Amino acid sequence: MEIKFIGTGSGKTSLKRFHSSLLFLSEGYHLLVDSGDGISRALLSQNVPYNSINGILISHLHPDHFSGLSALIIQMKLTQRTNILDIFIHESLVEEVKDFIYHSYIFNERTHFKINYIPLVYDKTYIVDKNFSFIAKQNTHLDTYKAYGRAKEISFSCSSFLFTLNSIKVHYTGDIGAAEDIKLFKDINTDILISEISHIDIQDVLSASKFLNIKKLILTHISDENEQMILNINNIQSENRNTEIISAYDGFSIYV
Ligand SMILES: [Zn+2]
Ligand SMILES: [Zn+2]
Repeated sequence: MEIKFIGTGSGKTSLKRFHSSLLFLSEGYHLLVDSGDGISRALLSQNVPYNSINGILISHLHPDHFSGLSALIIQMKLTQRTNILDIFIHESLVEEVKDFIYHSYIFNERTHFKINYIPLVYDKTYIVDKNFSFIAKQNTHLDTYKAYGRAKEISFSCSSFLFTLNSIKVHYTGDIGAAEDIKLFKDINTDILISEISHIDIQDVLSASKFLNIKKLILTHISDENEQMILNINNIQSENRNTEIISAYDGFSIYV
């Protein structure tokens, strides 16, 4: 099973990296995690055919994780897609996503494929394919927004995910808000941690990996400004002897 990094950039648009997105390729199912601005171009640049994607899992609605969705669906239509597209999104955001698609003038009658919305509930296991499942948990990434605007009317759901691939456990933080979010799945023995490093201090990521006894730590959501710090990875490596630390780049893959 392959995990391909389609984008590894932060929320800042960059000429070096696309916004953060992962593609899980199991034998019978290809799951794209997040579809931010520019996702269609990111997939094109990595020779991933749009219609090889069976489903899209969305962590939250920040534009670097979500706003490319309707553009990607249009590309699927333009490339004659016929197979069903699953969209996994927290139950509190389903209607917003449907509206966004609808208001992008994507109507069922005009596409030759069905969009199947799968409303997510936290802490429930979703089986995607044989030997491929995930669970989602709420993190604190959007908590600070709760004081603003029409906060009571909208959902601040933001998910971190634990994927099980064969028997390997992979925790993808998505965007998080605090060091404690890295320990959301602490009760489950995690092998691989894929962590963002834009909203969290690298030292917190390292100490959490040590605490969780992570074998492989992969850093993503890297801004151009953060790149230099990541380049000092060799110094970081020596402090966490039991953890292999990798700085991801667009097109990077791991096999589990
Ligand atoms: Zn982000
Ligand atoms: Zn975000």
